[in-house]
Amino acid sequence: MRIDINLKSDISNFTSRFDRQQDFAAMANETDLQRGMGGIEKLDPQLQLTVRDHVHRILRGAIIAGRFTPDEKVNERQLAEQFGVSTTPIKEALRLLEAEGLVQALPRRGVLIKFNMNWAEEMILARAALESMIGHLAARRIADEGKTALRATVNLMEAATSSGNADQLIVLNEAFHDEIHRASRCQYLARLIERQQFYDASIRRIIHSDPAERNKALREHSSIADAIIDGDAERAERHMRNHVVRSGETYLSIVFGKKEDIQGE
Ligand SMILES: [Zn+2]
Repeated sequence: MRIDINLKSDISNFTSRFDRQQDFAAMANETDLQRGMGGIEKLDPQLQLTVRDHVHRILRGAIIAGRFTPDEKVNERQLAEQFGVSTTPIKEALRLLEAEGLVQALPRRGVLIKFNMNWAEEMILARAALESMIGHLAARRIADEGKTALRATVNLMEAATSSGNADQLIVLNEAFHDEIHRASRCQYLARLIERQQFYDASIRRIIHSDPAERNKALREHSSIADAIIDGDAERAERHMRNHVVRSGETYLSIVFGKKEDIQGE
């Protein structure tokens, strides 16, 4: 297991956010007394996570980022120490991960990591299938405002690619794909994709820190945007599939150390 530093900083970050939430709640109360309920801002949804949910989210990210080896035994006590919590939320989080299939509890053997190369490949292909369908629908359903927004996001991505700002690119990449989801006005597919497992910001940061990767991604994003704006559903679908699969292959090579061809066409 090679996850100690990340977990510690993440949990202390969470704790300080929680402290701020308490301060914030006190402030909100004062405001209530002074001027009624009007002055209350929405809480960051992150603050509403329980410790179990937080541990679950971080562990899932760590598993998908390949920080455990397949069939490795999970050491609950060590994780509890790393998170600075009791073993109860660790056990609860592991049960959630077991329901997702990422770990398996075996009698007398403990909890084992079930994530492996095949799982990762299928995760990417599932994502590619759903995203390409959403891209297809976006090309058919996009409104003029959607086209303007998509074009504007690609322009920002161009600027961030030439300045090499990886963090900004991660945010823009998410905004770009969200824009397409919105443009597609999909409902059923949106629910399906919400439930998918996928690699998180830690892997994306590694991918985006490579200039060659950044340029490839920019070219792909531009072709996807062009196809959607042109209303060419087939082309949008194809470009989106290739984009998700290609960046997925980069992820596989980072996590499993070899370039794997999963195009499967
Ligand atoms: Zn993308």
